[in-house]
Amino acid sequence: MNVIANNCPPLVASLDDALHEIFGFGDFREGQREVVEAVVAGQDTLVVMPTGSGKSLCFQLPACVIDGITLVVSPLIALMKDQLDALLEFGIPATFINSSIGLEEQRSRLREIVAGRYKVVYVAPERFRNQGFLDAIARVRVGLFAIDEAHCISQWGHDFRPDYLTLGHARTLLGCPTTVALTATATPNVQQDILRQLSLPDANVVVSGFARPNLFFEVFHARRREDKRHRIRALLNHYSGESAVIYCATRKQVEEVAADLKQGGIEAGVYHGGLGDAERVYVQDAFMDSDQPVLVATNAFGMGVDKSDVRAIIHYNMPGSIEAYYQEAGRAGRDGEPSHCLMLYNYADRGIHDFFIGNSNPTAQTVQRLWEALAKHGVGTHALSTDQLAQHLSRGKNAERVHPMAVEAALRQLRSAGHIDYGYRDGYPWLQVVDQARVRDLRIDFEGLQRRRDAEERHLLDVLSYASGQSCRQQFLLRYFSSKKSAEKTCGNCEICSGRPEYALKASASSGTTSAGADRIHSLDPPELLVRKLLSGVARARGKWGAHNVAGMLRGSAAKKITAAGLDKLSTFGVLSYLRQQDVVDLLDLCQRCRLTTQNVHGCVSLTDEGAEVMMGTRPMPDALQQQLAMRLSFGAQSPTRPTSSSTSTSAPRAPTISAEGASSDTYERTLDMVRQGMDYDEIAKERGLTSASVLRHFMVLANDGHAIDLEGHLDGQILPMLRDAAQDWVFGAPLAPLKERMPASCTYDALKIHLVQILMERQ
Ligand code: ADP
Ligand code: ZN
Repeated sequence: MNVIANNCPPLVASLDDALHEIFGFGDFREGQREVVEAVVAGQDTLVVMPTGSGKSLCFQLPACVIDGITLVVSPLIALMKDQLDALLEFGIPATFINSSIGLEEQRSRLREIVAGRYKVVYVAPERFRNQGFLDAIARVRVGLFAIDEAHCISQWGHDFRPDYLTLGHARTLLGCPTTVALTATATPNVQQDILRQLSLPDANVVVSGFARPNLFFEVFHARRREDKRHRIRALLNHYSGESAVIYCATRKQVEEVAADLKQGGIEAGVYHGGLGDAERVYVQDAFMDSDQPVLVATNAFGMGVDKSDVRAIIHYNMPGSIEAYYQEAGRAGRDGEPSHCLMLYNYADRGIHDFFIGNSNPTAQTVQRLWEALAKHGVGTHALSTDQLAQHLSRGKNAERVHPMAVEAALRQLRSAGHIDYGYRDGYPWLQVVDQARVRDLRIDFEGLQRRRDAEERHLLDVLSYASGQSCRQQFLLRYFSSKKSAEKTCGNCEICSGRPEYALKASASSGTTSAGADRIHSLDPPELLVRKLLSGVARARGKWGAHNVAGMLRGSAAKKITAAGLDKLSTFGVLSYLRQQDVVDLLDLCQRCRLTTQNVHGCVSLTDEGAEVMMGTRPMPDALQQQLAMRLSFGAQSPTRPTSSSTSTSAPRAPTISAEGASSDTYERTLDMVRQGMDYDEIAKERGLTSASVLRHFMVLANDGHAIDLEGHLDGQILPMLRDAAQDWVFGAPLAPLKERMPASCTYDALKIHLVQILMERQ
């Protein structure tokens, strides 16, 4: 029989008293009252609110007005102390129990809990495996069970923690107290999963606070590193002297970006997992105090950082999930002032994520081969390092290269299954083989590993659809988290709804024609004619297509979506074939900003009355547009980035790419169909009776038009980076000979083309 030693009476009588007297807040924030009232009334509740919106109050305040203690599960031991200090400041008796405190202290805290000294107790999830803790907690009345970072319970989430899976059972052990689960990031799927894992089918779900109308969301498609850097400098200059964070995927990039900023006269702090503790604290403090307001960091930065006046959050690479993105980007503008969230997007950055996903979730085969290698050493302790093991596994005729990171992940799996243990002694690694289990008897959840890998891949695809999508950024994010659709047609605060932001226009205007002039658009038409061509294209598309399709049509793209839609039959098909896709999109954007065109909810563009008149020549171009074009366009002479067109051809635009190649778009379509069937280029060549050189040329055309082509097995890890470098200024259609000269003799024309196909895809 459990003895309830003390039932911890409420601290105050009413919710409002608690809010004013204990917390000293004037009002509830959005969503808080609803949650607090439900929880106090004994209703299980799932709270989904973004970071910084005040989730803690949703359990801290009920903790003050209910009988018994509130047990809070939190995965982040490092943050418990801060949370605790905050509670103690409010005068709420609270403590935590985790592995950071000694055993004696743990026992003494448990005694105090049983004696009823605390209203709130924080624990990490693994605490529920500790019998002493379970015995003690059985003797107190738990009035509220609060599970923070509840998405960690879901394998669909972005931060699954196996220890969280025990919480459903723990809740039963506690006698099924009222439960509140909280998270900043849970898609509708993950929400369902949380409720299922905790066996709370009837819980009340409160999703609120995701709209961040003061944040401007922008995605910039960066072809080259220099484009990214240029853009970063422009945005930082726009917010000169104010706080900004640039997130990079790797430590190396953090260092590079910071060095680059320094060259441009911007001092930035760097923050990543490779720094010592003291250094990290120093950098973080300098940022918090705005002594050094610009910070370049990996995602190691930000947990528990609450700086309200961050004006810009820039992602140098696309992040691995929308959850991570929203969490990081959401650190901008907590004070409600206009702020900017910029994602720099380059398809090639996907490779970094694929690398991490692959190596942090090793395949069954890697784990099994590793185990075979380890078991051979016999039970006992051995001096083996991760690198040695990786080398060992990579040896052999058909062995794939195994990265040390994958070995580390596989070792972790073997360790948590109890087959091995390892560590460092006097600076040397040791590894203990504990048993001699047969491979098929390994106690490892290989399916779970595969599921996690799949989940991470799905998350990455969501980011790709955010970045490559052409719909309102704000609405995409809102829909992602709450499946609610806002009634607003356009948010007015993303680059899709309101066009390119001012800082970017200023930046491209000031960049002149030097290397940063990649932003300049080289026009073969005088500005009035160019604009009238654009507007005619919009008119011909009859309000049924978005800017990207209209642009594709104007460029004479062979993409299937263009031909399937019949856009290739329009008289304006290909009239701007000499421009790049992004340039046409940018120009359409300008037209929209100058109110010559407008966009509906679905992103379809159409002419305004004013636009129709400008198209027909019955009204002059708006001054604003003339000025913008004067800054954006270059004429006549060769563009530094587009050496294809001869300088004398100003009067006659090149015909659409396709016919210039002397072939009908049909031939590309047929090649594309075969690509989609999974055929290799030599197979296609054979099937169609063409040379491989021709098929590779088709590939280049297709890649340039945005089609994905699987080049697996054809890419060479040495040639590719070399060619990326050599082809920095090469544009589609330019001769290949100068490129070939810069490559090793062993690189044939075919090889050159294959790698160019890859590079063209990366540029999309
Ligand atoms: P979350 O857990 O959602 O990331 P926190 O609970 O840490 O956010 O709250 C963020 C900040 O907002 C804290 O400083 C907290 O004191 C403050 N806060 C929470 N609720 C209110 C409120 N109703 N009025 C004013 N400030 C609040
Ligand atoms: Zn928008």
